[in-house]
Amino acid sequence: MSNRRTSSSEGAGGLAEVTAAVHVCQKCPRLVSWREASAADPPRRFRGENYWARPVGGFGDSTARLVIVGLAPAAHGANRTGRMFTGDRSGDWLYAALHRAGRATQPESVDPTDGLRLIDTYVTAVVRCAPPANRPAPAERDNCVPFLTQELALLEGCNTIIALGGFAWDGVLRSLLELGCETLRPKPRFGHGVEARVSGWALLGCYHPSQQNTFTGRLTEGMLDEVFTRAGQLAGTRASKGRIEVG
Ligand code: SF4
Repeated sequence: MSNRRTSSSEGAGGLAEVTAAVHVCQKCPRLVSWREASAADPPRRFRGENYWARPVGGFGDSTARLVIVGLAPAAHGANRTGRMFTGDRSGDWLYAALHRAGRATQPESVDPTDGLRLIDTYVTAVVRCAPPANRPAPAERDNCVPFLTQELALLEGCNTIIALGGFAWDGVLRSLLELGCETLRPKPRFGHGVEARVSGWALLGCYHPSQQNTFTGRLTEGMLDEVFTRAGQLAGTRASKGRIEVG
């Protein structure tokens, strides 16, 4: 991982700068329209709420050894609350699992003022704006991947990445290439529990905790817990000091 170049304090400041750049990005006209249209027409249960309706930055511990990468904010989850995986069922699953794994101070993730802190863990996504049907276009992904690349460069303690789903898996591989990591041939294919090593990084695949996967039993709590146990082994012992919360 010769690609990392920062001290912890520079990393935290740099992450804040990346997040600030994310928050004002308007590179993808279709997604700018969609994130705002979703806010303008919320489902009944969220009517009257003040939506974030902007791109969403990463969240967690700037000295994290483990980074979790999702697809993109949900229209009425992170696009509403402004924090990754916060305010929807996928987030309920993810943060409950992180809490069981000792990586979150509480199992609930309701809004950015709920007191949740992550331990040795950073949560982010390949694409930062809510996409229609959860399907970003390739050009939108390519526009957004550099934000993930910048975060990975600044998270100097990170050596392990969990990709939630195939889109995130591909996005992480693209990001690692941007960081100057080796090109794996053949390209490793996503699967739940699949592991790949890229220039000193460990990449671990996990089914996305979408309702489609959790309702059908394709992803169970036990399966998520196994992934976090394995990620803990790959990432090594937990960072114990110098944490700075970001996001
Ligand atoms: S998806 Fe990413 S690149 Fe596109 S507008 Fe949103 S933040 Fe910018």
